[in-house]
Amino acid sequence: MNSKLKIALFWLLSCTWGIIMTLIGAIAALALIITKHKPKIFHGLVYFEVGYNWGGVNLGAFFIVSNGQPLQTKQHEAGHGLQNIMLGIFMPIIGIMSATRYWYREWKINHGKGSELRPYDAAWYEGWATKLGKKYFA
Ligand SMILES: [Zn+2]
Repeated sequence: MNSKLKIALFWLLSCTWGIIMTLIGAIAALALIITKHKPKIFHGLVYFEVGYNWGGVNLGAFFIVSNGQPLQTKQHEAGHGLQNIMLGIFMPIIGIMSATRYWYREWKINHGKGSELRPYDAAWYEGWATKLGKKYFA
């Protein structure tokens, strides 16, 4: 399959079975465009760079990362985009688990308890997103 067709299929699935996350992403994208953030393209996904030092978040066919994030972060967030077209309407559950875990980890790190934490990718949905990102967005 050529890459244009893959991207078209990705958007078709993102706007149907994966519409919940993509709709949230579209609203976020609109707000970011209004506030003068520049949309960029990463392998067909639309993304924005906002703020500093907070990582990234996937919203279906869209994602947001902080400024200066390495390629691996973009691959990881795009990997969640592929999870979204597989898990569809169930993806918000992963989104909530992932965000809750992220902020819990930040709290631990800020309270000097970072050494108690397992690696970021130890959660199955995070390791899976990283693997998908590396494989399909190299
Ligand atoms: Zn993640």
